[in-house]
Amino acid sequence: MRNVLGALCIKCGAEHQAGDRTCTCPKCGGVLEIVYDYPYIKTVLTREKLAGRRDPGFWRYRELLPVGEDSAPPPLRVGGSPLYRAERLGKILGLKNLYIKDDGLNPTASLKDRASALAVIRARDAGITTLACSSTGNAASSLAGNAASLGFKSFIFVPERAPAGKLTQLLIFGAVVISVQGNYGDAFRLSAGAIEKYGWYNRNAAINPYLSEGKKTVSFEIAEQLDFTVPDYVAVSVGDGCTIAGVWKGFKDLYAIGLTGKLPRLISVQAAGCCPVNRAFESGAPLTPMEENTIADSIAVGVPRNGEKALRAIRESGGMAVNVSDGEILEAMGLLGAAAGVFGEPAGAAATAGLRKAVERGLIPEEALTVSIVTGNGLKDSAGARRAAGEPISIPADMELLVKEFQRRHIRA
Ligand SMILES: *Cc1c(COP(=O)(O)O)cnc(C)c1O
Ligand SMILES: [Zn+2]
Repeated sequence: MRNVLGALCIKCGAEHQAGDRTCTCPKCGGVLEIVYDYPYIKTVLTREKLAGRRDPGFWRYRELLPVGEDSAPPPLRVGGSPLYRAERLGKILGLKNLYIKDDGLNPTASLKDRASALAVIRARDAGITTLACSSTGNAASSLAGNAASLGFKSFIFVPERAPAGKLTQLLIFGAVVISVQGNYGDAFRLSAGAIEKYGWYNRNAAINPYLSEGKKTVSFEIAEQLDFTVPDYVAVSVGDGCTIAGVWKGFKDLYAIGLTGKLPRLISVQAAGCCPVNRAFESGAPLTPMEENTIADSIAVGVPRNGEKALRAIRESGGMAVNVSDGEILEAMGLLGAAAGVFGEPAGAAATAGLRKAVERGLIPEEALTVSIVTGNGLKDSAGARRAAGEPISIPADMELLVKEFQRRHIRA
């Protein structure tokens, strides 16, 4: 890889050659970060070159990805999700320039596909055809789907309480699904042991530094879709912290190669019932574990495995942290749906809930160019969605009753 220089430990600063077997720093166990040769990339990736590429997926940015020059693209169309100008929703929130990035429109319906696609490509290029991870949902279903697209095998370890929609995705993609009797921590431990024992490719995002490299492509797209105008604010929901770290890396990459001229401020949104990253950001104290008390299962992470990278991203960007209640998340799901036609899962709508709250607190000027990322599709968790959406009007097939029901409910027909 001509474009990659190596991997840097974010804890002790040691430099390493970036392999796929050693995910963390051999010296101190810290998380690694992939380092690029920006002066070189600057000469091979320009706005004009991008404009000439037809593939809307994340592969159009391959010069900024840790993949070989002749590496083949993934079979599925990962990335290339729409960025919508959301005028009506913006009006409700008090924002004149609001955009929604709908990453629920990825192949397995979440932003996690950006990471999983890179995992299967790296595994393929390293000659490994079996991959594994532990996850409560989207990371697992996206790994299973992306592995299936290449005919690879996947082993998925889930805790017993995984939501039905996501579990169904795993099974339909043909993964070997191991439901671990215990919590997420137990599933994680067993998967780590099995990965070691069987030599599978490790798609545990928090420790495999290549995975946030995939996630950063969401920022490349946002910038390109805005004609390389960088937003003032980007709202992201945070669990382990790899997504927000990836978002930040993406904007920094573009800045480093001169495709953009500024950086956005990040709004880190967590559930009030599980907000260890935001709590550490506000207090300046080290990260401490919290309970996982929220309906937003994808960000219910009591022990964030990439919290340090997330904190660094929020701080470097001059960003802010906002916690939202489950009620506020459900309201945001309803608003996104009814005012923008976008259906996000609870963790996907959480960013919009946080943005709304930040505006209410006067933290964001109404003219600001603002992007809220919807990270996962609402159909994955229809039970959660029904709590936001309410019940249908149930009547017999009778016109009179229909009219009456409209009057009773003050519905203007
Ligand atoms: C994983 C996920 C997040 C958070 O990403 P982290 O890297 O865990 O911070 C947010 N929303 C959805 C839908 C997710 O699946
Ligand atoms: Zn180290």
